[in-house]
Order: sequence, then structure tokens, then C-alpha cells
Amino acid sequence: MRWVTVAAKEGPRVCGVYQGEYVDVNAADPEMPTSLRELLELGRDWERKAWSALPRGIVRHDPANVSLLAPIPDPRKIICIGLNYSDHAAESGVPAPEEPVLFSKYPSALIGHGAAIQLPSVSNQVDYEAELVVVIGRGGRHIPRERAMEHVGGYAVGHDVSARDWQLNKPGKQWMAGKTFDTFAPIGPELVTPDEVGDPHNLAIRLRLNGQTMQDSSTKQLIFGIDVLISYCSQVFTLEPGDLIFTGTPPGVGMARKPPVWLQPGDVVEVEIEHLGTLRNPVVAEVTPGR
Ligand code: ZN
Repeated sequence: MRWVTVAAKEGPRVCGVYQGEYVDVNAADPEMPTSLRELLELGRDWERKAWSALPRGIVRHDPANVSLLAPIPDPRKIICIGLNYSDHAAESGVPAPEEPVLFSKYPSALIGHGAAIQLPSVSNQVDYEAELVVVIGRGGRHIPRERAMEHVGGYAVGHDVSARDWQLNKPGKQWMAGKTFDTFAPIGPELVTPDEVGDPHNLAIRLRLNGQTMQDSSTKQLIFGIDVLISYCSQVFTLEPGDLIFTGTPPGVGMARKPPVWLQPGDVVEVEIEHLGTLRNPVVAEVTPGR
């Protein structure tokens, strides 16, 4: 099943994608929460409970007329994995890692399908990265690899926007700073539950910049699979429902091209993953708000 978070007048509202409309879960059953993260916190039966409420839904949005937020706009953690495709490690000029490389983004970087990626005024080397995002359903610590897939709540298309001048050229290599500027974590349009995805380690993944294919690979090429990543991360910190794991990007990024390709105002980036849909975001110069 498919779930979105709509920017409603009252604030973010989780909706089921039902009969071609977005049906507000909480408006269908006031006992249900308004956020997808809280739905996941209901545990094993969350989806059946939420889905069974949808036929009674009185608040329905036409997908053509609403703005989407990230499916989980309020995760407690956004975990990212660096260099997780061997051919991307090669194009980056570094050996494939022997263990997962972790970094993070803050929730302030999240935007949904259709929202604008803002190019920071303090960077002129902003790059794109298509990524499969894993959404944690059931939390845990020290999760064994062989049980790890039971902790997946769903999947989404993600874009790990990256300011390479910050990530690579600042003292100490500021990976996190380069990756967590506001708007640098588009995800969506939907959270898709595992039953609709099939084998998550065999999904076509592509990125188009202004219609031109720049990345074209498969999640078959992941060095560390989703089970390994969940198990590895849970050795370090407690995973919680709604946590997001960006699983790394395949080759074809802008910095590896000759000459390099950097995002420009007016660009449109589309990331497409088989069974998950297409995440589309325009690129604009930083909007400097007077606040
Ligand atoms: Zn990445």
C-alpha cells in the first residue's frame, strides 16, 4: 500500500492513496494519528488499522491539487550511507569500504515531491545523488542481520543532494555539513510498503537531469544490503519507527564527470525507482527569507 503526507491547511496529514485520491486517515477515524511516523509506532497492525478506516474517509484530496511533504516529515533520525555502490566508489577515486560509512542529515533538510531544492549561496558545487530510502517500521537495538528485514516499514525514492565543496574541500571534510543544507533531502512521493516492492535488492534506479539520464543502475549493485545496514546501524544507536536510511548512490554523479556537472537554477531533477515512483524537484537559487 501507498501512503503520502499532504500539506493541509491544518498542517501535515497522513493520507492513504486510495481509489486515485489521497484519503486523510485521521479524518476517517479520529482514533488514528495524523502522522505516518505515529502510524508506524502503532506496531505490526498499523497498516491494516489505517487502511480499514479509508472507505469512511470524508477528507479526500485530489493528487493534482495538493502539495506533498516528505512521507515522513518528522523522523527522529536521518541516516545516510556513503560509497555503497562499488562503481560509485571507483568513480569517486576511493576503495570500496569494508564496513558501511555512516553520516547524517537533519530533518530540516527534508522536502517532498514537487518542492524546490534551494542552491545555497555559500556553495557553487551542488551535486545530485539518486538513492533508495528505507523507512524503519519496528525499532530495535542490536538487530541481527537475519531478522533485520522484519524492521522495514516501507521504502521511498530519495535524493541525497550534496554540496561537494563543503563535503570534500573544507578542513576535516565536512560530510554532514555538505549534505544537510536546507532542502537537501527530497524524498517521496510516497512511502510504499514492502508487499508492493518485491525484492528491494533488485530495483532499477535512475536519475534524470532536465530529461537526460545521468544515473542508471540497480539496487543489485549495493555493496551492503538493507539487512546489513539495519543490523550495523543498530549496533550504534536504537532504531525507531520512522527513521530514514538513505542507502547510497550509484555511479554517474556530477562531480565524476568531465567537465563536472553542478546543479543550476532552473534545472529539474527526477529520481525514479522501480515500483516506488518518480520523485521530481525543481532547482532554484537560495530563497533568503527575511527571518
Ligand atoms: Zn549519498
